[in-house]
Amino acid sequence: MTPSPNPAATALAIHNIQVVYGGAIEAVRDVSLEVRPGQIVALLGSNGAGKSTVLKAVSGVLDAEDGKIDKGSIQLFGESIDGAAAAHIVRRGMVQVPEGRRLFATLTVEDNLLAGAHLRPRQELAEAMASVYELFPRLRDKRSTIAGYLSGGEQQMVAIGRALMSKPKMLALDEPSLGLAPLVVAEIFNSICRLRDTSGLTLLLVEQNASRALAICDYAYIMENGRVVLDGTGEQLRRNADVREFYLGLSAKEGRTRLKDVKHYKRRKRWLS
Ligand code: ATP
Repeated sequence: MTPSPNPAATALAIHNIQVVYGGAIEAVRDVSLEVRPGQIVALLGSNGAGKSTVLKAVSGVLDAEDGKIDKGSIQLFGESIDGAAAAHIVRRGMVQVPEGRRLFATLTVEDNLLAGAHLRPRQELAEAMASVYELFPRLRDKRSTIAGYLSGGEQQMVAIGRALMSKPKMLALDEPSLGLAPLVVAEIFNSICRLRDTSGLTLLLVEQNASRALAICDYAYIMENGRVVLDGTGEQLRRNADVREFYLGLSAKEGRTRLKDVKHYKRRKRWLS
């Protein structure tokens, strides 16, 4: 993506970060990406490519896994968040919806939602709850149900709803489609689009479901082995022959298994390097 002419107008800018776990395992190398306000930006790639690590880096939660940003920098809404604690990043408006939902399984839907609202004044809670129920009407009917008894899709709705309760400016979603049936995935992705289109929310979407993600995103980055290997608009990537073959499974040719092995593929010069 061409860098925004006005960095302050960028929701999230990651500049050439390197992330290392345990002082030894390099999970992410020289990754740069940009998310502009009101956009859905997708971060795609197969297992172990480094997608979740990038999300953890921007959410300030690497410490918990002995991970560290060794090089590079991250700006959120024009402010450096290098070394910032997770709580500070949440206060600046970025909230992560982690992979696997991580709900309080023994609490009700409503109590899970309230747990996401601890930074908001009490008088705003009813309105915040109402807008979550408007987005996910099913949760209104199940508001007294114990979260652990919900279906996977409903749990994902609660996880997104809980993040929305803090009134974020930006959501980082880690594999919201994981383990869900196609119809439920469609429902979740529709809600993600609504958040952008009607609330103007900015979204960073980590996904293995490239087909769905490319259909709704404004821009996408593809990662392999800790690096970004390709980026473009959703439309550009959907038309890219290699993406079609390797990520959308649409035109398999023998002997080509990874994007980086494709002879004619040339890694484009990164805009921030
Ligand atoms: P997935 O889709 O499977 O979640 P991913 O693209 O999100 O994959 P990451 O989870 O970021 O990939 O992992 C990137 C690399 O970092 C992998 O090689 C992984 O084994 C390694 N890694 C991730 N978390 C840790 C950790 N806590 N300690 C050590 N290595 C880790």
